[in-house]
Amino acid sequence: MDHRHDVAVIGAGMVGVSTAIALARHGADVVLIDRRAPGRETSFGNAGVIQREGVHPYLFPRSLSKLLAYALNRRTEAHYHLSSLPAVAPFLWRYFRASHPDKARRTYDANIPLFAGCLAAHDDLATEAGVRDLITRKGWLRVFRSDAALRAVSDELAELEGLGLSVSMPDAEALAKLEPHLKTDRLAGIVHYEDPWTCSDPGALTSAYGGLFARLGGHIIERHVTGLRRNGNGWRVETDRGPVAAETAVLTAGPWSKALLDPLGLKLPMGIKRGYHRHHAPAGNGYLTRTIVDDEHGFVLAPMARGVRLTSGAEFARHDARPTPVQLERAMPRARALFDLGESVDGKPWMGARPVFPDMLPVMGAAPGLPGLWLNFGHGHQGFTLGPVAGRLVAAMMTGDTPAFDPAPYRAERFATR
Ligand SMILES: Cc1cc2nc3c(=O)[nH]c(=O)nc-3n(C[C@H](O)[C@H](O)[C@H](O)COP(=O)(O)OP(=O)(O)OC[C@H]3O[C@@H](n4cnc5c(N)ncnc54)[C@H](O)[C@@H]3O)c2cc1C
Repeated sequence: MDHRHDVAVIGAGMVGVSTAIALARHGADVVLIDRRAPGRETSFGNAGVIQREGVHPYLFPRSLSKLLAYALNRRTEAHYHLSSLPAVAPFLWRYFRASHPDKARRTYDANIPLFAGCLAAHDDLATEAGVRDLITRKGWLRVFRSDAALRAVSDELAELEGLGLSVSMPDAEALAKLEPHLKTDRLAGIVHYEDPWTCSDPGALTSAYGGLFARLGGHIIERHVTGLRRNGNGWRVETDRGPVAAETAVLTAGPWSKALLDPLGLKLPMGIKRGYHRHHAPAGNGYLTRTIVDDEHGFVLAPMARGVRLTSGAEFARHDARPTPVQLERAMPRARALFDLGESVDGKPWMGARPVFPDMLPVMGAAPGLPGLWLNFGHGHQGFTLGPVAGRLVAAMMTGDTPAFDPAPYRAERFATR
């Protein structure tokens, strides 16, 4: 066994590398363990939006007509595997209940301080890692196909303005200047969220933050973690190539976190929402400079280094079930109606899984009943955005610093756990 580190961070996605950096900056001897190089899983394949505006949670639909449409399984924004239903139904039921307007309001309130610092925290890391050029600071555009859909978000937009964020509704002339190749003739309107940032290569950004961690003196080891065990007053991380000892451990394994935590007797109600992406070359000389989001149909067109990345909505299925990227196919005609997409430049679609809790808040803090183990996972649709903020928050709690905001809403104890 190696020498005993101060901290073992398990999982090198955006959340893990950011946590490892925050701890290393505090002077801790940190080892970051992942079976792959940093940023090769969920933090690689997302839509790359650093969602400063993302305070309103993604809710489970509550209208009967929408529920019936979902049940038919022909929608673009959500899809499920019938064979996985027994496995995912308990999570879906909790998600449905947590989407009650009163409970959703609590999530919104808890999101406000969480998202407030996301741009500054990324800027800090991207600057020190020397990769500010991977980030574009122009906001993103949300398209609406009906006046009713547009009206339905007016309260949300007013709330964002109340938080000091800028949202505008560019007219045709302004749009032609912002995105000359976006086809807007059949749309009811477009909202420009001006504050958020976008990343042209999320995997490269996460990997560069991993490089920064190494430059700060952190250790990165590529091993498959098979289990976690209390070891005297510390922790022993079992891996396929021998154990790693540390005084404390932080679990940042994204969608795999539950599988590593359950055997310790701490069963948290985390689920997953699978998602896909595929890149396309633009047809002809067209280009996009901003990410385009069609929420009604649950897809995103994100201009990236490799091409225009088309990402899908949520798929409810067992994590290990075979990939079924039907949502990408369903989105294609609507995506092409917005922008002239050429052929795909990828062999087959990428698949990942958003780690989600029913209340759409992450778990960040000490693991109840497991002294020295810390949890930082379940950042859902916005873990790429929140990684740096989440890393700082958990590192502050671990090192006895005053957290930048109250961590109480994110405690694991909000669920009946053991
Ligand atoms: C289609 C899609 C679009 C998205 N778009 C956005 C977006 O625009 N903006 C945004 O903010 N978020 C977005 N997200 C969500 C975001 O990608 C995730 O919330 C975030 O990447 C989670 O980061 P993480 O570090 O927790 O997990 P990961 O990036 O998955 O990292 C977990 C790491 O743990 C490692 N690991 C797991 N188990 C083991 C083990 N046993 N041994 C060793 N290593 C292990 C894995 O190899 C992996 O590297 C999107 C997600 C999807 C699927």
